[in-house]
Amino acid sequence: MPAGLPPNAVRTAYEREIEEIIHGVYQKYSDVNEGSVATYIPELGKANPRHFGICLATVDGQVFHAGDWDEEFTIQSMCKPFAFQMALEQCGAEETLKHVGVEPSGDAFNSIELDPKTTRPFNPMINAGAIAVASLIKQLPVEAGVQAFVDKMSQAAGRRLRIDYDVLQSETLTGHRNRAIAYLMRNFGIIDDHVNESLHQYFAQCSMLVTCRDMAIMAATLANMGKNPLTGEQVFDFQYIKYILTVMFTCGLYDYAGGWAYEVGLPAKSGVGGGIFGVVNRQLGVSVYSPKLDAQGNSVRGILVCKELASQLGLHAFEFTNVGSNFLQWLL
Ligand code: GLN
Repeated sequence: MPAGLPPNAVRTAYEREIEEIIHGVYQKYSDVNEGSVATYIPELGKANPRHFGICLATVDGQVFHAGDWDEEFTIQSMCKPFAFQMALEQCGAEETLKHVGVEPSGDAFNSIELDPKTTRPFNPMINAGAIAVASLIKQLPVEAGVQAFVDKMSQAAGRRLRIDYDVLQSETLTGHRNRAIAYLMRNFGIIDDHVNESLHQYFAQCSMLVTCRDMAIMAATLANMGKNPLTGEQVFDFQYIKYILTVMFTCGLYDYAGGWAYEVGLPAKSGVGGGIFGVVNRQLGVSVYSPKLDAQGNSVRGILVCKELASQLGLHAFEFTNVGSNFLQWLL
């Protein structure tokens, strides 16, 4: 029985329908075997390629799930919108945007490039932008900044989260490309002298363990104007959430961002750990975990499931019938 409901709560007909849809989508894609698990961070190569979980959490605190929804994996790039939110809250929009832009790059997540006009990274959803953001929210000593991030994410998930130190070490030992990006940004004055500390903040953020359920609740917290729908805690300053949802919408899937917006139509973010989450503003969060990735570094089954759910539940932001905007009425 999903959390948010008493153990023997009777599901309404609509709730049962949503549960059936989620289980049906899970069954439909459970045999898909395309893609490959990320190995460029060696520790990620240990992921079980069969793992597959789906979770949907509503802003009124209902949670629906299927499969390996409670399996832990590292958040990877799905940390980026939340770190951007923290930078906006700590530094304000004006200062933050001196260090990172909001334009889609149309390039891979790990491109070594800056906007030639401004020398800023294009946006906070690619590695360059996320390292610039990490540099803004890092603290000295570095562990204080990492802890502040983990604390905030724990509030958003509604349970205590932690870093996977094996993944952190693996990222640190092999993250030469990210180091190159960071030093390029140091050259242009986008990040300060504490390059290694900024990288540590970024690597640690990416190495935080989450479940599919955590991500759906964190997404529902964004959908719910920053308030965790299960704990009732106001986690994020809602005035900035529109900004992070916007960059998720335009840049969250890197060089598949346009295709994603066209086909799925949700602000979303993926990570090379195999997670992906999407936000239906004011209504719900949805998350999928499946470690096999496509060429862009997005979860193969994650994308299939999101497309299917968006179509079956009418979640696309510009859906003509706009069932999505009536989603909560479905549940009543
Ligand atoms: N930690 C990973 C990296 O920096 C995150 C990339 C991702 O999830 N797309 O390469």
